[in-house]
Amino acid sequence: RPRVLSGIQPTADSFHLGNFLGAVRQWVEMQETHENFIFIADLHAITVHPAPAELRRRTRVSAAQLFAAGIDPERSTLFVQSHIREHSELAWILICQTGMGEAARMTQFKDKSAKYGESSAGVGLFTYPILQAADILIYQADQVPVGADQKQHIELTRDLAQRFNSRYGETFTVPAPYILKEVERIADLQDPLAKMSKSSSSPQGILDVLEEPGPLRKKIMRAVTDTGSEVVADEENKPGVTNLLRIQSVLTGTSIADLEKRYAGQGYGTFKKDVAEVVVDAFAPIRERTEKLLADEAELDRLLAVGARRASAIARQTMEAVRERVGFLPQL
Ligand code: ATP
Ligand code: MG
Repeated sequence: RPRVLSGIQPTADSFHLGNFLGAVRQWVEMQETHENFIFIADLHAITVHPAPAELRRRTRVSAAQLFAAGIDPERSTLFVQSHIREHSELAWILICQTGMGEAARMTQFKDKSAKYGESSAGVGLFTYPILQAADILIYQADQVPVGADQKQHIELTRDLAQRFNSRYGETFTVPAPYILKEVERIADLQDPLAKMSKSSSSPQGILDVLEEPGPLRKKIMRAVTDTGSEVVADEENKPGVTNLLRIQSVLTGTSIADLEKRYAGQGYGTFKKDVAEVVVDAFAPIRERTEKLLADEAELDRLLAVGARRASAIARQTMEAVRERVGFLPQL
């Protein structure tokens, strides 16, 4: 079975529709055919300094949501990143393989640091993609199911794996990105040229999985649609409508062409109402199951401990090889 590795940051109280369609849904499907490693990226989350209590809460909410969305603790290894110390250790070793220019090209850093100003943005935000490479390589992952925003980071991961392998000898599997075109970039409802994002979307632009039906419907009805009244996919002139069409298409398994036919001559109103119902129906069961799982924190923590044990066994093995290749003296 090919091995899959992917993660999500506990940077909000809920995942959003982009996380769900672009990543989480693939993880759930891949359980059937792949060996899954999924983690809550709390080491990544501290690049933006959450309050400790908030981070703890969001880490549990994230885990509960993933189980609620269908990640099965029997078939997948779901764990918290900071529980596996080897991620940080490998990150340092990979930092030492990375060129300044190479790291400086990462566009996510440019986006995320923009609000701080170049020189006051954190170094952690800068080295983030290298920690991400460590996350992936330490499990010898074959595939990394992600949204399009992570494409460049996976490229860097591949480069670092190849460089390490040629410098120190075959050690890492070179992973491939797994990105589904239709859902690779779910757009912000208020700004259809930007991706929906936990940390930068406005409340009106984001659809949270744990949100109540009322506000979900309202936001979709108020989503920016484009001039004209035709429900047709047109990335260039109608990015807002195209985003909604994609959402409805993947959630209902209906082609965009069939949806265009269904709404021909009907204007945006009916279409948006239907999109809203489809989203509400997809989220409601996940919200209910998440609440149940959160009610038993001890059981949730126990499941995460099981995941950490399984992940740790593999991470430890990889790190032993890495230390030896690099030339570190074994600790007797
Ligand atoms: P943050 O703003 O804190 O970076 P995020 O919304 O980008 O949060 P992440 O936790 O960074 O979410 O990413 C988790 C997964 O969701 C990644 O695989 C990422 O590519 C995917 N993803 C995030 N946003 C979208 C989106 N709008 N469309 C499709 N996939 C997305
Ligand atoms: Mg992100």
